[in-house]
Amino acid sequence: MANIIPITPVKAEPAVDGMGCHAGSELMQQAASAAGKSEVLSQYAADYPKGPHDQPQSMCPAFGSLRVGLRMRRTATILSGSACCVYGLTFTSHFYGARRSVGYVPFNSETLVTGKLFEDIRETVHAQADPAKLDAIVIINLCVPTASGVPLQLLPQSINGVRIIGIDVPGFGVPTHAEAKDLLTGAMLRYARQEIMAGPVPAPRQARSDKPTITLLGEMFPADPMFIGQMLAPMDLAVGTVAPTREWRELYSALDGAAVAAIHPFYIASIREFEAAGRPIIGSAPVGIDGTHDWLGAIGRATGVAQAKIDDARNQALAAIRGVLAHTKINGRITLSGYEGSELLVARWLVECGADLRYVGSACPATPWNAHDAAWLQAKGVHVQFRASLEQDLAAVQEFKPNLAIGTTPVVQFAKEAAIPSLYFTNLISARPLMGAAAAGSLVQVINGAMGNQARFDTMNAFFGEVGKADQAGVWSELPQTHPEFRADMKRQREKKAKIRAAQEAIGS
Ligand code: SF4
Repeated sequence: MANIIPITPVKAEPAVDGMGCHAGSELMQQAASAAGKSEVLSQYAADYPKGPHDQPQSMCPAFGSLRVGLRMRRTATILSGSACCVYGLTFTSHFYGARRSVGYVPFNSETLVTGKLFEDIRETVHAQADPAKLDAIVIINLCVPTASGVPLQLLPQSINGVRIIGIDVPGFGVPTHAEAKDLLTGAMLRYARQEIMAGPVPAPRQARSDKPTITLLGEMFPADPMFIGQMLAPMDLAVGTVAPTREWRELYSALDGAAVAAIHPFYIASIREFEAAGRPIIGSAPVGIDGTHDWLGAIGRATGVAQAKIDDARNQALAAIRGVLAHTKINGRITLSGYEGSELLVARWLVECGADLRYVGSACPATPWNAHDAAWLQAKGVHVQFRASLEQDLAAVQEFKPNLAIGTTPVVQFAKEAAIPSLYFTNLISARPLMGAAAAGSLVQVINGAMGNQARFDTMNAFFGEVGKADQAGVWSELPQTHPEFRADMKRQREKKAKIRAAQEAIGS
């Protein structure tokens, strides 16, 4: 895999128009540490170790926390941050069907530096804390309030019985929106665990199984818990709560599971809470023949199930999967990349469905909970890239020239420009069943359907030729002229600025 380019982080220039994703992450971190957030940032650095792209290359990470809050009943979610960030986050939330208002405490330079912003936040949570309507209020510091040290930890723990959860979710401290989901889920689990330790807590609204339950960790397709439940039934186990939960009381039942299945492997803060509650954690997921075999064994062992029952569960689940795989196959080369954290699970399916999978890139990190999947894929000759940058994902498409590129929006765009059929991972792959025999059938259908579009791409490519590419895109009355001298001039200016910056840094250090 020699051609997958090594990524050398380039230091961003200090921003002149305030701090944000476009400012240097080091600058923001220094500001936040100086403002009293060094402990929080150290914890994030330990939980979410970074990779080649310290700055978000996809959406704002805070979206992950916001989404978790917005999906919970009787929970208000309030943002504290720059208006442009809040606009983008609100837009994205409603694009993904939030159906809930996003709260916002605005600020300006004066309220930020005088500490009035914190007073405004305190007033807001007091005004919102109506126990008839809410179980919890989540308040999220975005980049600028985090860098300025707005001390959400000084908010009351609860007001009128409404729990107050204040978290910092800066783009310069949390690498992906996936991990930001963990950040809020972990904070809520910690709160709920302390409530459990302090005394009796309300039972969940939905009746609970009388069998030992397995808590599932990670947002998944709504039918997946049901499919997993069918696989667990022969072991006299049931599916319990899925975390992130949909309401506060479910946090208690999540903590009460016999074991926790870390279906998505990046929930580090949440796993810390489950471990503190004495729950065993099982990584990977029931995907494919090998994956399902190993996962059922691990779940059975962790919960003390007799080997005969484990074998029974395996026989039933694997017979169904083998039946589907015998009739459905993927023929073709694929590259796969995404930022949801479930990329390796999908990759396992693709390999078992017969695909010639060459590369899987995940924006999420390597953790103990995806180590098994990574080892399995590597043993099959697949290049596994954790903390994959966009440049690495694109290099993989260029190098392997797949029949299908599955990836993020810019990867899909790149592939389509090269007349390669492509599928957007988030909407078209991760939003479908992944567990059990049903997953294989549905995945093969969508993959083969997309690969079958090659002829259409070739026709379009032949028709449009070079029209509309790169800097010649658009409608022109005359053929656009290139000006290499302008480019050379801009390049010289950039190099000059880089030299000045390096010299300034050398003097500073
Ligand atoms: S909050 Fe999000 S959008 Fe705003 S500056 Fe930070 S990373 Fe960028």
